[in-house]
Amino acid sequence: MMTSQDDALSESSLITPSGASPGNLPPQAWELHSVSSALDIMSIDPSHGLSDEGARTRRDRYGPNRLAEAEKRPAWMLFLDQFRSFLIVVLIGGAVVAGLVGDLKDVIVIGAVLLINATLGFIQEYRAESSLAALTSMLSPTARVRRNGVVTEIDAAEVVPGDIALVEAGDRVPADGRLIVTAACEIDESSLTGESAPVQKQTDAIALPPTDSEPDTNSAIDTNSATDIAIGDRINCAFMNTTLTRGRAEILITSTGMSTEIGRLAELLSDTVQGQTPLQKQLDQLGKRLALVAAGAVTLFFVLGMVRGQSLSDTLLSSVALAVAAIPEGLPAVVTVTLAIGVSQMAKRGAIVKRLASVETLGSTSVICSDKTGTLTLNQMAVREVVVMSDDSELAGADQETAALFPGLLCNDGRVTGDTTIGDPTETALLRAGIDRGVDLDELHRSNTRLAEVPFDGAVKVMVTFHPGPDDDHLLIAAKGATDVLARRCRNTTPAVSQHMERMAGRGERVLALARGTARRSDVDAAAGDPDRLLSLAVDLELTALVGIVDPPRPEARDAIAVAHRAGIAVKMITGDHAITASAIAQELGIRGRAVTGADVEAMSSDELRSQVNDIGVFARVAPEHKLRIVEALQDNGEVVAMTGDGVNDAPALKRADVGIAMGITGTEVSKEAASMVLTDDNFATIVGAVESGRTLYDNIVTFVRFQLSTNLGAIGSLVGAQIVGLPVPFTAIQVLWVNLIMDGPPAMTMGVDPPRRNTMDRSPRGSGAILTARRLGVLMINGFVMAAGTLGVLAWFRPESRGGEAHALAMAFTTFVVFQLFNALAARAETRSVFHRDTFTNSKLWISLGAVTLLQIAAVHFNPVQQLFGTADLALSDWLVAVAVGSMVIWVDEARKLLTRSMTR
Ligand code: ADP
Ligand code: MG
Repeated sequence: MMTSQDDALSESSLITPSGASPGNLPPQAWELHSVSSALDIMSIDPSHGLSDEGARTRRDRYGPNRLAEAEKRPAWMLFLDQFRSFLIVVLIGGAVVAGLVGDLKDVIVIGAVLLINATLGFIQEYRAESSLAALTSMLSPTARVRRNGVVTEIDAAEVVPGDIALVEAGDRVPADGRLIVTAACEIDESSLTGESAPVQKQTDAIALPPTDSEPDTNSAIDTNSATDIAIGDRINCAFMNTTLTRGRAEILITSTGMSTEIGRLAELLSDTVQGQTPLQKQLDQLGKRLALVAAGAVTLFFVLGMVRGQSLSDTLLSSVALAVAAIPEGLPAVVTVTLAIGVSQMAKRGAIVKRLASVETLGSTSVICSDKTGTLTLNQMAVREVVVMSDDSELAGADQETAALFPGLLCNDGRVTGDTTIGDPTETALLRAGIDRGVDLDELHRSNTRLAEVPFDGAVKVMVTFHPGPDDDHLLIAAKGATDVLARRCRNTTPAVSQHMERMAGRGERVLALARGTARRSDVDAAAGDPDRLLSLAVDLELTALVGIVDPPRPEARDAIAVAHRAGIAVKMITGDHAITASAIAQELGIRGRAVTGADVEAMSSDELRSQVNDIGVFARVAPEHKLRIVEALQDNGEVVAMTGDGVNDAPALKRADVGIAMGITGTEVSKEAASMVLTDDNFATIVGAVESGRTLYDNIVTFVRFQLSTNLGAIGSLVGAQIVGLPVPFTAIQVLWVNLIMDGPPAMTMGVDPPRRNTMDRSPRGSGAILTARRLGVLMINGFVMAAGTLGVLAWFRPESRGGEAHALAMAFTTFVVFQLFNALAARAETRSVFHRDTFTNSKLWISLGAVTLLQIAAVHFNPVQQLFGTADLALSDWLVAVAVGSMVIWVDEARKLLTRSMTR
């Protein structure tokens, strides 16, 4: 449908919501209006923006600027979900069998077990879900808007129609709107249009094509909006969730939330589904295989029971119980829960992990590639020296220095008022240097308005601005940037420049060159909006000063690098700074390896880079695209690479890296989106801490797997073994269910929250192998066998004794098996080191739950009502001693094995 410009204009009462779509502005052809007409329609003064009151009423009327998400599952559904497993079906089947034979006690117990199981599962999943939800809210995007005449940062959800939003390279457009100011603005709209090349934006109104012409059939026509101009052609508008790749812009917001283009495109955006992590997949598979083993064992148990003439209902019930005990149903859940809880703990320590899978990858990281500025250094820049390069002989020393600084003060986006600074620390350091020398910045900027600019870009490494010049035909150029780059554009460059530069860089200073010049006004006007053409005008400049800026290394980074080295992790510095500066700081930090530049990387073939990359410690003067090659070369060498980045152009490298790490404070929205982890403190040490957490969580999951599987094997061995050797079934169904609760319940759960071991960062990174190695499986089988043999041994030993009869022997077997699990829990936590180590006592929650299990077991055999339920009999103190002695066998055998392997590997 076509709406003429007049029609669109006649709807200027549009601030009142239309009846058709409550709370939303009617569609409007904003691209056809001039900037001033758009501002008039919205009644907005762009230098003032909305008032607080205006923002509030609009917020009430139009709602939050959010896209609808798939509805969250309510808690009761999460609870019901717990009953949707195969195992539960088995249990319910068991309860039916028990009910049929009139065994009310078993029905009640099975019902209770079902409830307890579901409750435990629910609590765990609920905790996992809410800690992940908390993470998402920590990463919620922000937007900068002008309200009451001041620029403030607000939650992007609070943006309303009528807001003036300010965006720059790397930012996300918070909502749809009409561009009212653009400077070299390019926007990547691929999320909306599929077109991958960024769109150059401008502010002029678009002229409507003559009405008799055919509509443009090549581009997607958006029938929902008031014109047929395709989104990609509305070059004076910006759209929600697209990103600025270059320059900056101010946007008059016209629609928010679900009435934006992206909101209409996707009526319902479901939450990004978290896929299974590699570990979860592995365990899922493992669980399925074990379920098969369990099914075989249950069948064997049942058949043997029948052959031996046991009662059908008892055998059926025991089979159900065996199935419950033998199937490691807790495995996948415990991974999710352990990772989710781990992730929320990591967030408290400054590392927000966006995908659970990244936690595992973090633990196997073998190379960390880190930015220098702000990550390895404090990003607290201060000008240490100003070397004057121009000879203004009329001025005295101090004034000469101040004059030489001027280009750096003009070509500057920073803000310094009193103690508060806003903007790039490199730039605010220059402003402070100006203030220290008595410059009135406000006055300076008032009398030198900015007419055009080339924004700073990590690839070009210079920034240029144009100001009113000496006469009407000429403009003043102010430029600052990397010395080697800017010096080429200056006519007064002498060998002294590089001498100074090397001397300053050798002291670890960041050296910035400042220059001024003139350009013809007509040339600048002709190049307006095109940064490449504007940059080409910045030639034949006069170098005014070299500025040495210090940025001290973070004190904790040095230690963190040492820890990384001990943990077999290489650390590489990647920086846009000069090689000499970078090397000086690398040395201070203890980074190993030689230094190369981006140009060197460019000159290398992929093979050359691959063969050399491991020996290089410092990559200087790199452009973002080099980062991608560095990641790929390392990965080709089999390294697991963590890579930091903050800029717009870092996204490909962040996505490619095994763990892409974005900076929470200085990073762009784009980099945060591409990353799998965001550092809230931008600190290198936090990365190393996160690796330690990743390793610990992996270890804990392995502990849990080893504990649960050996217990499963022990239960299978005891029950099936009894049938084979002709002993009575050692445990009742209820007893088996009780043991299963111990295995899946609190003691096992506490293994997930084990603190880091002392040696966690003294090992080399683990390879990406399977969790259940042949060796581990062997150990599990031995431990399972010890538990089964010990339990059956006790049963066989006590049975002929007349003292307590069969009931007593069975109570002994049951108790011994439970005691086995207590010791097995301790053994499982110590895979390679001895149990007799202070690390055994680091997890107080485990000890509390083991104590609780012990008390419950005492109640089970001594407290009459529970005795009735469990079918147990009183034990004497000497019996308990026997149970403890036999039950601890699992530790002794395990210790002997560890001693043996230790002496063999020595
Ligand atoms: P890094 O963050 O690794 O130190 P950058 O890419 O930020 O590197 O900077 C690379 C070089 O570009 C710096 O060494 C400096 O010479 C120059 N530079 C940095 N920031 C600016 C800026 N705002 N304006 C002009 N030049 C800059
Ligand atoms: Mg930087």
